[in-house]
Amino acid sequence: EFKENTSIVVFGASGDLSKKKTFPALFGLFREGFLDESCRIIGFARSKLSDDDLRGKIEPNLKKPNGDKDSEKVKQFLKMVSYMSGPYDQDEGYETLAKELEAHEEKNSVEHPHRLFYLALPPSAFVTVCTQIKKNVYAKDGDNRVVVEKPFGHDLDSFRELQNDITPLFREDELFRIDHYLGKEMVKNLVLMRFANTFLSSAWNKENIEMMQISFKEPFGTEGRGGYFDDIGIIRDVMQNHLLQILTLLTMERPVSFDAESVRDEKVRVLKAFAPIEKEDILIGQYGKSEDGSKPGYLDDDTVDPDSKCVTFAALGFKIQNERWDGVPFVMRAGKALNEGKVEIRVQFKGVPSGIFSDISRNELVIRVQPDEAIYLKCNSKTPGLSTTCQVTELDLTYSRRYKDYWIPEAYESLIKDVMMGDHSNFVRDDELDVSWKLFTPLLKYLEGPDAPKPEEYAYGSRGPKNLVSFLENHKYEFEDNNVYQWPVATPD
Ligand code: NAP
Ligand code: NAP
Repeated sequence: EFKENTSIVVFGASGDLSKKKTFPALFGLFREGFLDESCRIIGFARSKLSDDDLRGKIEPNLKKPNGDKDSEKVKQFLKMVSYMSGPYDQDEGYETLAKELEAHEEKNSVEHPHRLFYLALPPSAFVTVCTQIKKNVYAKDGDNRVVVEKPFGHDLDSFRELQNDITPLFREDELFRIDHYLGKEMVKNLVLMRFANTFLSSAWNKENIEMMQISFKEPFGTEGRGGYFDDIGIIRDVMQNHLLQILTLLTMERPVSFDAESVRDEKVRVLKAFAPIEKEDILIGQYGKSEDGSKPGYLDDDTVDPDSKCVTFAALGFKIQNERWDGVPFVMRAGKALNEGKVEIRVQFKGVPSGIFSDISRNELVIRVQPDEAIYLKCNSKTPGLSTTCQVTELDLTYSRRYKDYWIPEAYESLIKDVMMGDHSNFVRDDELDVSWKLFTPLLKYLEGPDAPKPEEYAYGSRGPKNLVSFLENHKYEFEDNNVYQWPVATPD
């Protein structure tokens, strides 16, 4: 089994991602029995650290849901972890690394080595490290799996350049491009839900759906890291990747099977049917100070150009030109420094024919990806009692209530397990990225070019730009009047 004797090398182990995500996910897999003590985990980076320095850095982030029982596991896990320091662009460190891996494999009589290389590095180091892995540490008679993190390019040209540099080194099936949204429980559920339920799959089309929206809301701004964000903006940060992944899973056709290539073929196919994004389908914003003045605006950040037009909020309308979706608006919206943090999908169905009803709400399916996973369908039902009127209520699946005894893995835990199993379903394929960059690059060029429009200012902590409501209404979202729907205050079970 892959969980045994695997050698895992984390490049950039001194950094933020490795501390916050990669090592904690490896520990989560170990804790749950998906990695065993025969595995070796080696951190590699330039910083001069001892084994214990690395262990000390990662330990506080290892999660112990079972208290003391897990403390023992933490100890066992940390014994599997060691550190090597070396420059990324010279052979020497990699040669030593190769010897370490070979010694480990020999000691455990491994005939068919399994090596997993995790690049927790800035993209500027990708190609150098990949070249060295291929030259010095690639197991010729084994399985090699290389995990890379976003960003996969800055636009279509830079993506293709990166791709051209990496293609000669590794086969597509050796590469695992992480979009961690694809590891989230609710995102993994989308395809299952859609295709395993006739009531959904038969209604999932332009005849029954009025519009869909996906929203990403963050309650904080760039908080001093604006300099880093300024070249990226919210569209590259979460929309071209995470939210587009959700949108393709929501709109693709039924794959012939659940194998990775069938699913990814369908994702690429629907992406090719997306129409170019038009100017009237773009709403952009940038946050200013909070209304009470206590929180700074984006431009108050010293690391940001005072004239920056960086987009910290965007709402984009998409059209899909195929038989299933012709005429249905899809809205993606994402923003920083808003009134709350959440990621959710809202599917609004067409209204029922008028006649026996007047003024009745549309059905709305809400899929909350985070926090507190939930799926609920807002629907109309008779007001209980002698009344014969209708009121909006919900069919509700709240995960924390329904699935009390389940371990819901973190996105990175689930994805690293997939890498170990060689399952590519939840990773991004090269042609998928090519089509998505083709769709987004003209938009980004427009927003970053000489005629770029000025983003609308919104207050830190608000719902976003004032024009959002009319933008959503223009894209066929129907708001309910206040008090039409009330969610009961949670009662203890
Ligand atoms: P990071 O902390 O800036 O960098 C990781 C390590 O890489 C550093 O400790 C440093 O190690 C080395 N490094 C830094 N700058 C370098 C350079 N110019 N050339 C060569 N090596 C350099 O990055 P990170 O936040 O861990 O992120 C790693 C990757 O994951 C990036 O591609 C990032 O976009 C992506 N990502 C990060 C997060 C997150 O939560 N942090 C989330 C999603 C995606 P040494 O100096 O010791 O070699
Ligand atoms: P809602 O809070 O009424 O929001 C519906 C939509 O209208 C959202 O897109 C929201 O935008 C927007 N909106 C609401 N007020 C607005 C305003 N003043 N200006 C502009 N846009 C506005 O959502 P709901 O689905 O009817 O649910 C109501 C409450 O019940 C929520 O707190 C929900 O979490 C809770 N609920 C929970 C569960 C569960 O946990 N299982 C089940 C059902 C309902 P934003 O997205 O920007 O807010």
